[in-house]
Amino acid sequence: MICSEPSELQELVRQLHRQASPWLPAGQGSRLHWGPPVLPAPGEEQPLVVSTSRLDRVIEHCVGDFTVTVQAGMPLAQLQAELSRQNQWLAIDTPWGSDATSATDGNQGSIGGLVARGLAGGLRQRYLGVRDQLIGIGVLRADGTAARAGGKVVKNVAGYDLMRLFTGSWGSLGLITELTLRTFPRPPQRRGLLLQGDLSALESLRRQALAAGLLPQRLDWWSPALADGQPALLLSLVSVSAEAIVDQLTQHCQAAERAGLRAERLDPEQLQALESAGRGNAGSPGPEGQWLLQLGVLPARGAELLADPALRGLRLSLAAGAGQGIAWAAAQEVPNHRVEQLRRRCEALGGFLTVLQQPDNSGLPAWGDSPSRPLIEAIKREFDPLQQLARGRLPGVNPQPGTRV
Ligand SMILES: Cc1cc2nc3c(=O)[nH]c(=O)nc-3n(C[C@H](O)[C@H](O)[C@H](O)COP(=O)(O)OP(=O)(O)OC[C@H]3O[C@@H](n4cnc5c(N)ncnc54)[C@H](O)[C@@H]3O)c2cc1C
Repeated sequence: MICSEPSELQELVRQLHRQASPWLPAGQGSRLHWGPPVLPAPGEEQPLVVSTSRLDRVIEHCVGDFTVTVQAGMPLAQLQAELSRQNQWLAIDTPWGSDATSATDGNQGSIGGLVARGLAGGLRQRYLGVRDQLIGIGVLRADGTAARAGGKVVKNVAGYDLMRLFTGSWGSLGLITELTLRTFPRPPQRRGLLLQGDLSALESLRRQALAAGLLPQRLDWWSPALADGQPALLLSLVSVSAEAIVDQLTQHCQAAERAGLRAERLDPEQLQALESAGRGNAGSPGPEGQWLLQLGVLPARGAELLADPALRGLRLSLAAGAGQGIAWAAAQEVPNHRVEQLRRRCEALGGFLTVLQQPDNSGLPAWGDSPSRPLIEAIKREFDPLQQLARGRLPGVNPQPGTRV
């Protein structure tokens, strides 16, 4: 169901609450099927979807304050295009499977969907994750009550921090209607470097790059399957000055040479093409029957993950400073048991593995029980007492009790 006005949406949510009907909050609907299945109402085949896709306007862009307030259904691609007219941007990664250069690519999804999924890529390294860039939020609770937290200025910590609670909530706590986010000036100069060779030499270069006075904009590990058979580090540099960026590049190249690594300098177009390959290439979010995994390890253990045999055949782009990334492979390239093995390995390296998409019948739980499961369930009961929202899909609660994860 799609509403064009916030008041219509509120009335719809109130009515669904009176009827105790289950429903699923949605943005553009580009990735609704990823993660654990959502249970429909008894007798129905599909869950009822309440879409915010027509709530797609910029409410206020305070150019001088570097903040923007938008309706939740605003497509990310369109918002970036509007901000770029003021030479600003949201320092948020383009989601996996979408085209960063297109202002109309629906696969990028809505800003509300992006916050609800709470995933971040390599930009997290320098700009932190999406939850840290959120400074205000408007939501509709399950009974239709409108609630607000945060504000429209960067230094504002009034009230409960609903921003962090709703980031990564997967539509399980309420419907996000409005968001205020920080914007950043667009850096005019970009260059890149692709480094390949011995894994321990790459690891020491990774540490040096992250300890440098000028942090790279992003630094991503690439698994051998993504980088033509050898592990790689993709370094993206930004600056306001052309000389400064050439200087930084030269320093990184010299360090790579000393370590016996192969270094390929990348101009902005080459860098963009490689970043796109690290997002599974522009286009569809991948056919059914493809593995898509979100995973993380302690940042210092990334190189160990890259060397692990469980990763064989999986294309992985992992933010080398934050330790989080996305891995994918065609169904026939990776058997189920290897994904289970990889999950155990990620956990042993201080991290996690979430199955976003899996081949039919593989039957792996999307996620396991978090140690804070009782707290998560208590919050869910508070926000959604009739268990209407995203029934069967609660991050941190194993959707298949009794299944080993
Ligand atoms: C680097 C990176 C990689 C990513 N890779 C993936 C990936 O591989 N898989 C993936 O699923 N996502 C990924 N994401 C997140 C992705 O951005 C979102 O899934 C996408 O933005 C969805 O947008 P949508 O409008 O199509 O949402 P939908 O597909 O409509 O919904 C996505 C999810 O968000 C919830 N939701 C949507 N809108 C609202 C709202 N207004 N209020 C409350 N809940 C809402 C839905 O219930 C659902 O759980 C990635 C993000 C980044 C930054």
